[in-house]
Amino acid sequence: MVQRTLAILKPDCVRKNLIGKVIKKFEDENFKIIAMKLVKLNSKTAGEFYAVHKDKPFYYDLLSFMSSGPCVPIVLEKENAIEEFRKVIGATDPAKADDGTIRKLYADSKEQNIVHGSDAPETANYEIQYFFSMKELVENDDKN
Ligand code: ATP
Ligand code: MG
Repeated sequence: MVQRTLAILKPDCVRKNLIGKVIKKFEDENFKIIAMKLVKLNSKTAGEFYAVHKDKPFYYDLLSFMSSGPCVPIVLEKENAIEEFRKVIGATDPAKADDGTIRKLYADSKEQNIVHGSDAPETANYEIQYFFSMKELVENDDKN
């Protein structure tokens, strides 16, 4: 089933000038870009986005990191996109991520881990709608 997932190039990715390299990986893995923008979160919007983690000990650090600079939300489409994208990004902790994954290649720590990926269809829907309106989701199939 063709699915959509939400990726975010996190503030560390933007700061390290890795936007192009990371998007290249998405393209190499045949994800289609459906929508993309540059945004700067603040603690309120980062908190809304990561509300599922509000009881975690790292929550406030996470909000401060996610609002520390611009980031790039991107909607990606592919067969089984949610699971496939999690494989491409690798484990949350780069030290535990498989070789060749984006986090293994570029991430510095469990917090500053370069990229976000939705973890389930319900969260993907919420996260896509959080950043993009229907009008911003662009058909991007090979017939165009
Ligand atoms: P993401 O949701 O960003 O794709 P993930 O699904 O791999 O990451 P989650 O458990 O959802 O991991 O955690 C969300 C984010 O919170 C992580 O990507 C990371 O930036 C931060 N985080 C998670 N665990 C820790 C931790 N123990 N210490 C510090 N930061 C953490
Ligand atoms: Mg997550």
